[in-house]
Amino acid sequence: MRRHALSPRVRLAAALCAACLAVGCPADAPTRTNVVLVLLDTVRADKLGCYGNERGLTPNLDAFAAGATLFENASSHAPWTLPATASIYTGLLPTRHGAGGFIPKLTALSEQPRTLAELARAAGCATHAIVNVAFLGASFGMTRGFDTVDERYFENNEQVRRADESVDLARAWIDAHASGPFFLVLHLFDAHAVYDPPQPFRRRFARPEDAESDRFAFGSRADMVALRSGQMDLDPHTLARAEALYDGEIAFVDAQLGRLLAHLSAAGLEQRTLVAVTSDHGEEFLEHGGFEHGHSHYTELLHVPLIVRHPSWPSGTRVAQAVSHADLLPTISELAQWSRADGVDGVSLTPLVREPRSPGHAALAIGNFWGPPLASLRTANEKLIVFPAGSSRPPELYLWREDPLELWNVGPARPDDALDLQRRLQSALQRLEALASPARPASVDEATRKVLETIGYTDSAPVAPGQR
Ligand SMILES: [Zn+2]
Repeated sequence: MRRHALSPRVRLAAALCAACLAVGCPADAPTRTNVVLVLLDTVRADKLGCYGNERGLTPNLDAFAAGATLFENASSHAPWTLPATASIYTGLLPTRHGAGGFIPKLTALSEQPRTLAELARAAGCATHAIVNVAFLGASFGMTRGFDTVDERYFENNEQVRRADESVDLARAWIDAHASGPFFLVLHLFDAHAVYDPPQPFRRRFARPEDAESDRFAFGSRADMVALRSGQMDLDPHTLARAEALYDGEIAFVDAQLGRLLAHLSAAGLEQRTLVAVTSDHGEEFLEHGGFEHGHSHYTELLHVPLIVRHPSWPSGTRVAQAVSHADLLPTISELAQWSRADGVDGVSLTPLVREPRSPGHAALAIGNFWGPPLASLRTANEKLIVFPAGSSRPPELYLWREDPLELWNVGPARPDDALDLQRRLQSALQRLEALASPARPASVDEATRKVLETIGYTDSAPVAPGQR
């Protein structure tokens, strides 16, 4: 008797059942989708080749993007780590999730919002975070939902745990949890000051005078304090040397991410693992008068890379519409089939990926590390930045599609447009205020306070009046 050949789909189902029997997963096992969320610290979008950079810093991310979906115009909701990452974790804007504040009134993540890690855990995932800055630690409420957290805070920002070590830890953790499902956050701090890339990345990307010698590194606490207090003038040559070293750090991070992605592939996890790569915020090199981050809402700080790979999304897709970090939680929870993310400020990105003509999303940003919060609103073509109450600076309006570097403030020439956006911004801020969770002061212990102080992140560091 002739046996009927099984269709590929039936063969796949049979193989999956056999696999379930082999690893003993229960009949009502939750989804097997794994999620790896890579949080690059301080990496501006325009440093990636797939975002137009021509220095060749990111061959691995460029190759990853070619097989994934790249969001060309993704925004952070704040120009510094804590509130920006909390928006990624919760799908909420900074006013609502509560994490942030400003020096010296830092606040922790509120207790109400459900985080990505909590959603993942509720869906049966093992959850783990590898983080390298205190702002992502328990003091700020940022470890909620993780079964385990591998946090390494450094006593000196020249001794940060490097990306190679963090990626080794990530690979080992993935190996130990390969049967899935799992949710892993990998945070890489290398691109944050101090800029001091290891060889051969220093040799390849630093200015010639710094290529072999490691004597020049930029962004130490002493440098930052001197800059903020106006005691150091950052001349164009020093700035160029600093930025070239920053580039080298990004190239080093990219190489390590290549090792992570290769590992996922070699472990056979590519087809059942969502990988999302983004950065919490960018970095400024005096484009608008600021250096480092946490001072402004200009594009060099708020335009971030966002690349997502999931088997159900078409590969090699580029989405031009404006999106933002708050969209990540509803997108990930939908793709991973975790519970629905109701009541969040972001929306799933799947419709944009499937229908490129869908409208983009207006993005609101709130916050400013070095002083009272700025607010900005970016719509499909315009961006308005509003300065804190009491400031004498009028709002600034940019046509970011035609002026992506935000060099031309068209507010004075288009007062009606500026006023219209200002009303929209104020109304959005009031709505968010009404929905906000109560502020929760961060419980920063002495050890954490010392760590923050070493990177200049305390009120003991003098701040120039012009930067408040
Ligand atoms: Zn950061």
